[in-house]
Amino acid sequence: MRIGFGFDVHQLINEGDFWLGGIKIPSAKGILAHSDGDVLIHAISDALLGALSLGDIGMHFPDTDKSLKGIDSKIILSKIVEMITDKGYKISNLDCSVVAEMPKIKPFYDDMKRCIASICKIGVDDVSIKATTNEKLGFIGREEGITAYAVVLLVKI
Ligand SMILES: [Zn+2]
Repeated sequence: MRIGFGFDVHQLINEGDFWLGGIKIPSAKGILAHSDGDVLIHAISDALLGALSLGDIGMHFPDTDKSLKGIDSKIILSKIVEMITDKGYKISNLDCSVVAEMPKIKPFYDDMKRCIASICKIGVDDVSIKATTNEKLGFIGREEGITAYAVVLLVKI
């Protein structure tokens, strides 16, 4: 078995879309990023790479690569899942936390879990998504940014 941890942060801005867990969520603010800015999928991607010591998402999908501009993060995740499979591992389960002051994401848990589970080729119950605010403290509390954390367990196929 191999364990992996991932973290990501993005800036919130007053325009653009808000993608989280592969789902477009209605939000007064959008996410600033080279890709679609899906902070949750990025944290999961880094956790998967970390579990097999394969570097990080920035190494495999650099933000200096113009061809990746606006890329759907679901594509990034599916490519990383392919890498994991090629190395002879599959995902056992994922546990994630999103820290954001807004918008309310709880109503979208099921859609996000279904989306992530299908890309990761695991059951919906093998994906855990939690969310909390930052109690109005710091850059998250001021609605300037959003962070996500993910832990993943891989098992040999
Ligand atoms: Zn990111």
